[in-house]
Amino acid sequence: MTRQRILTGMRPTGPLHLGHYAGALENWLSLQNQYECYFLIADYQALGDHIDEIDRIRQSVWDVALDWLAVGLDPDVASFVIQSYVPEHAELTMYLSMLTPLNDLQRNPTLKAEMAQLEAARETLTLGFFNYPVSQIADILLPKAHLVPVGEDQVPHIEFTREIVRKFNRTYGNVFPEPRAKVGRVARLVGIDGRAKMSKSLNNAIHLSDGADVVRRKVKGMITDITGKHPRLKPTDPGIVENNPVFLYHDAFNTDSAELEDLKSRYRAGRVSDGEVKDRLVAVLNDFLDPIRERRARFEGRRKDVRDALLSGSQREKKLAEGTMRQVRDAMRVIYT
Ligand code: ATP
Ligand code: MG
Repeated sequence: MTRQRILTGMRPTGPLHLGHYAGALENWLSLQNQYECYFLIADYQALGDHIDEIDRIRQSVWDVALDWLAVGLDPDVASFVIQSYVPEHAELTMYLSMLTPLNDLQRNPTLKAEMAQLEAARETLTLGFFNYPVSQIADILLPKAHLVPVGEDQVPHIEFTREIVRKFNRTYGNVFPEPRAKVGRVARLVGIDGRAKMSKSLNNAIHLSDGADVVRRKVKGMITDITGKHPRLKPTDPGIVENNPVFLYHDAFNTDSAELEDLKSRYRAGRVSDGEVKDRLVAVLNDFLDPIRERRARFEGRRKDVRDALLSGSQREKKLAEGTMRQVRDAMRVIYT
């Protein structure tokens, strides 16, 4: 029996962080042996808002690949794909753009929020960026994926993918399966600054490659009250656990539930300091990251193996993509001779 397929990916815009792990990578790890997986390093997509930062993208392609290897993704089992090495991604994006009403993009909540972010940072909004949800649909459809494991911010894009699939299949015949989203254990991990999403672009992340001291510094600097209305000045002040970023990270990564319950009840009662709760979090995160750091260091010394993994994964997807594009051109009747 042939296995169902997964396509999912990351943008090479910086090193990966705890949000990627809890929102996506953890799922990828448990699914890589059950599905035929294509993990995409979406460099076309990164260009949409980083056209002046080619060096950063080039560096990040390696960072992403190393982070994937470091968490235990296996390029012999799953295919690591560089998007631009399979230009069929661009070709299918172009065809799908013609099927996409502009209004649908303008209404997309994730895109709207990201455009607002770019505007706030006074960055140019490019046509390429605006079109990225369509390029993501092409990514998913090229290998005819059935499942897309992602963080919650991506769910509107997968819903949109399903709409476009229905439209394509209705218009040109049944070519694509309707993919489903699968959201990770932590749908959306907050940033260390308390903003709703830890993100490479917001400078509010704890990276999988951060050293122990950096993790300590970042955790110690975290705010514990995102409303700013309940400052906790001393350990005897009753504290609020709900939506407290430090406790949200404990919830996501502390596997000792008895300890966590104890910390929470003492926090509510004003019997533990912010400092102690943070110290425990530093220890929890560093324990979690240690094996990842070790594996990363091993792969850093094996650049050729990483390169081979990227090339062979891209080649595997290219074969599939060529087949899909033949079907698409055929279905759309864009063959004239
Ligand atoms: P950028 O800021 O450049 O967009 P990003 O941090 O949003 O970077 P992406 O490469 O866009 O990362 O996202 C890759 C995957 O990781 C997506 O499935 C996304 O939903 C998931 N993801 C990213 N950040 C988080 C987070 N904070 N919590 C849960 N999932 C996340
Ligand atoms: Mg993103």
